[in-house]
Order: sequence, then C-alpha cells, then structure tokens
Amino acid sequence: MSNFNSADIAAFKDVWVFCEQREGKLMPTDFELISKGRDLADELGVNLCGLLLGGEGIESAAKELGGYGADKVLVCESPLLAVYNTDAYAKVICDVIEDLKPEAFLIGATNIGRDLGPRCAARLHTGLCADCTHLDVDVANYIQFLRESSTLDVDSQKWDMEDRNLKMTRPAFGGHLMATIICPRFRPCMATVRPGVMKKNVFDQAKADACEIVKPSFQLSESDLNTEVVEVVKAAKKLVDLIGADYIVSVGRGISKDVEGGIKLAEELADVLGGVVGGSRATIDSGWLSADHQVGQTGKTVHPKVYIALGISGAIQHKAGMQDSECIIAVNKNDTAPIFEIADYGICGDLFKVTPMLIEAIKAAKA
Ligand code: FAD
Repeated sequence: MSNFNSADIAAFKDVWVFCEQREGKLMPTDFELISKGRDLADELGVNLCGLLLGGEGIESAAKELGGYGADKVLVCESPLLAVYNTDAYAKVICDVIEDLKPEAFLIGATNIGRDLGPRCAARLHTGLCADCTHLDVDVANYIQFLRESSTLDVDSQKWDMEDRNLKMTRPAFGGHLMATIICPRFRPCMATVRPGVMKKNVFDQAKADACEIVKPSFQLSESDLNTEVVEVVKAAKKLVDLIGADYIVSVGRGISKDVEGGIKLAEELADVLGGVVGGSRATIDSGWLSADHQVGQTGKTVHPKVYIALGISGAIQHKAGMQDSECIIAVNKNDTAPIFEIADYGICGDLFKVTPMLIEAIKAAKA
C-alpha cells in the first residue's frame, strides 16, 4: 500500500482522466470525461491530463484527447498493456500517480472502469465515489446545482468558498436522493462517472495539435501479472446504441397485454424516426427486452433529441436516465402518471391506439 496520504495534500495538483481504449480505439466516455475535466481543471487553475495505457503505438491516439480539452496526455506503452489486464493497469496507474500526484482522478464507470477504480483507490489509500452523475469544485456553481436538484435549504448552510474538494454527486437510497461526497483527507479524489452523463466539448483541431504528449517512466514485467488473457471472444450479439441515439422509443409495463405487439409498434415508430428502442427496467426484468435496452439509474443515461415513453409510469429511477432529453413525449393511459410531470408533450391514451397514429402521422409528414 502507498504511504502517502493527508500529510501533504498541497503537493497534489492537476486533474487526470483515465482514457480507456479498446484495440487502440478511444472510448466515447474518454471525450465526455476530458470535457468535464476541462471545466474542473479551469476552476482549480491546474492542468488537465489524460492517462492513456495501451500496447505499442497507442501514442498515435493520444492527440485526439487534446481536441476535447486535455493539456497533456501521459502515455504508457507496453505489450503487456495492449489488452486490459487488472494487475497490469492498476500497477502502472498507481506507480504513475504516486510519482506525479494528481489531485483528482476520473474514470468512466464502464466495465473496465468499475474494475480498475476501486483497485487503484485501495492501493493508493484514498477514497472513491462510484457511479457519479455530477462533479463540481466551484462552490457557487455547486450551490446552484443543489438549489435546482435537491430539497436542501442551501441558503441556511455555511459554505467555504475556498474549498478545493471535488464534490462527487451520485444517486443514493434507490435514487430517492442525491448524495454529494467529498474526500477531504486523501488525494487524489477519485470518481467513476456514468457513461453518457457528461456532455462532450466540440472537437478543436488546434487544441489537439497543441496537446503535449509525455511518456512517464514505469516498471512492468510478466511477474507483476497474476492472470494472463489467453483469448478475447467478442459477443456476436449487436448491442443497441442508446447513448449515441438521437431518437429513442422506450416501452414500459404498459405493453403487458400484448408484449410482442407493443415491442413491434415501438420498433416501427423507432424505424420511421431513424431511432432505437429502449425500455424501463420492468421490461428488462420481465425478459421482454435485453439489458442493453434499459434506460435509467441502473441502465443507461441518455439525452436524445426526442425520447418517446410508451406505457412508462415515470418512476424516479427511470427519470434519472432520460430527463435531460431535449424533447420528451409520453403516452400513458393514466393522466396522473409522473412521466407527464417532465413530458414536453403528453398524450393520455392507450399506447396500442396512439402509437399507430403517431407512425402514420410521421410517415405522412415525411412523404
Ligand atoms: P409501471 O410503473 O408499472 O408503469 C406502467 C405504466 O403503463 C403505468 O403508468 C400505466 O398507467 C401505463 N399503462 C398501462 N397500460 C397502458 C396502455 N395500454 N397504454 C398506455 N399506458 C399504459 N426503472 C427503470 O426504468 N430504470 C432503471 O434504471 C431503474 N433502476 C432502479 C434501481 C433501483 C435501485 C430501484 C429500486 C428501482 C429501479 N427501477 C428502474 C424500477 C422503477 O422503480 C420502476 O419500478 C420502473 O421504472 C417501472 O417501470 P414501468 O414504468 O415500465 O412500469
């Protein structure tokens, strides 16, 4: 275990983002976290660094991160890092962090990030807040966020406006409240962040060109690895891309009287819009749709141009994943369903009657 802790917090500076790659290709979460990291680094007045690990030649992918806001990318290349391996990645990351001391370290809450984050936090003897949906260091901005998203009487609290702690916010108690967590005594402050939550900046080629590439020294040998990746077998199944979709038609338990028919209607509506089908957890738990379709707190966070909810009540955990959509259209036969509270357009009616009308209307408008 690392020896450094609260003794010299001031020695830690810069915001770092772990940049995940698969087969040399950067992941969308990298750009989201680099964009958010840029805001945090600006607030703190420090540099933003991407940390990119991979096999020989991975350096060529690094400059792209500059285009979204990284001042610098730390590149660690080794054949032992070509394919993700928990031991190898955790060792290199912890060694580099101990050497260079960032004050905040962000990781995407992907399958790899969820494996890597806690391992590194334990080794570095620091705190990690998992599955964050909001990050802040600017106290004034954070107070505004609390005003908008919580019932806390923010004006009666005493705030330290010089506070440099990363404020890491995530849903707690089944999504019924938002908990904000700080790590005041240890560094770096570590957070895993849900994919799709942070908005990515517009790519800027001039910034990409100006981005500095640094190769920190590290030691890694076969003896550091307890496991060996023998083969990577890709699932043949094509997963639905909810996060990248502009139009999402989601179904809920409201389709229960004719599940097949309800899903077919949603698919037809999604097709005419050029979108994809999502679902509430009720539809996933019932085995009507596969898990990659789930929208919500324990599913995907989406912000499409249009989100259509068919027979979804609008439970807080569902809203958590879709309430930032640009336009929400809800179809529900119960006019008191909570989904109508956040819908831009609400249609009170039977989805089996309303959806065919929507399909025909859109087809007619396109003709
Ligand atoms: P219901 O709440 O049963 O609503 C069905 C709706 O359909 C009703 O409003 C009804 O009026 C309407 N309806 C019925 N028939 C018709 C019809 N013919 N036409 C039109 N409308 C009709 N849920 C998620 O979705 N995503 C998550 O990520 C998620 N994570 C969770 C995490 C935790 C820790 C917990 C405790 C719960 C989570 N849930 C999640 C579950 C959530 O609380 C709700 O149970 C779920 O969202 C309900 O799904 P639903 O709206 O499809 O079903």
